[in-house]
Amino acid sequence: MENLVMIKGERPLWPSSSNVLVIRDGDGLIMVEAGCGGKEFSQRLVSKMRSMGLPPEKVHTIVLSHAHPDHMGGISTFLKISQPLVIISEIDAPSARNPNLLTDSFDVLMGKEYFPELGFKDSGLDLLTLFEKISNCPMASAEPDKTVKEGDKIQMGDYLFEVLHTPGHSPGHISLVDREEKICYSGDVVGDVVAWYSPSSGGVLGYLTSLEKIEKCDLQKIYPSHGEIITEKEKAIGRIRGKLYERENLILKELENGPRQFRELVEKMFPSPNQQFFPGVQILESHLIKLEKEKKTTRQNHLVMPLK
Ligand SMILES: [Zn+2]
Repeated sequence: MENLVMIKGERPLWPSSSNVLVIRDGDGLIMVEAGCGGKEFSQRLVSKMRSMGLPPEKVHTIVLSHAHPDHMGGISTFLKISQPLVIISEIDAPSARNPNLLTDSFDVLMGKEYFPELGFKDSGLDLLTLFEKISNCPMASAEPDKTVKEGDKIQMGDYLFEVLHTPGHSPGHISLVDREEKICYSGDVVGDVVAWYSPSSGGVLGYLTSLEKIEKCDLQKIYPSHGEIITEKEKAIGRIRGKLYERENLILKELENGPRQFRELVEKMFPSPNQQFFPGVQILESHLIKLEKEKKTTRQNHLVMPLK
């Protein structure tokens, strides 16, 4: 039996559990992520672990890459079974304690300005209800026993993982790298899907820096939160970076024909109305922050204008 296994989520796409790493050590088992909450998802993970000879009762520590429901919703199940120690970054710890705070890092209210006809009141979207009712992947809260930050080391069995702070998708998102074994748990930064990003979570600037940080590591294997194990680092990272720049280029191309309303740009980037209020608005805002910093675009109220 290998001492590090990855249990894949049901599907690579939301709503589905994140992949979960299970590592053996002398005291039992350590998990990276707890997967989705809710009966269906949690039961699947628990029985899968049992069938693999990884009894959930033996889990003594759970490390979370960030406080999102598909990664930590399942923690309520494990807290009941084995009272594991919970480790998360110091930046995401408040959201783990109080998931209502996710409304801020998701920048949910930002969409109200551009899509007033949707009629969201001050509360905007009730994220926690959305996770529970629509996605079937409820969020759970947990009091972290330990918080970590960039450069900290976490020993997990034979593996000594270094913490990389990799924001973009969540302000305190962390990836884990064992430089000796040349393996990395990338979380949502690298994987089959490009994670959404919002200004308060680090935006596209944070995302690009995070990709660079992982790219600089000498790696043979990347374990992503969503999708298959990656052995071709450059290709996988290049693909994600390519998608981010594809969005940026689309904005610049649109602006070649003159100024555009923010909303027009959202609709161009995200033709599906389901994606416009979130995460379309937040992703576009992230790109405009980058482009404005680079003096390529500017804004007057909701009108986005090209520079030069
Ligand atoms: Zn996430």
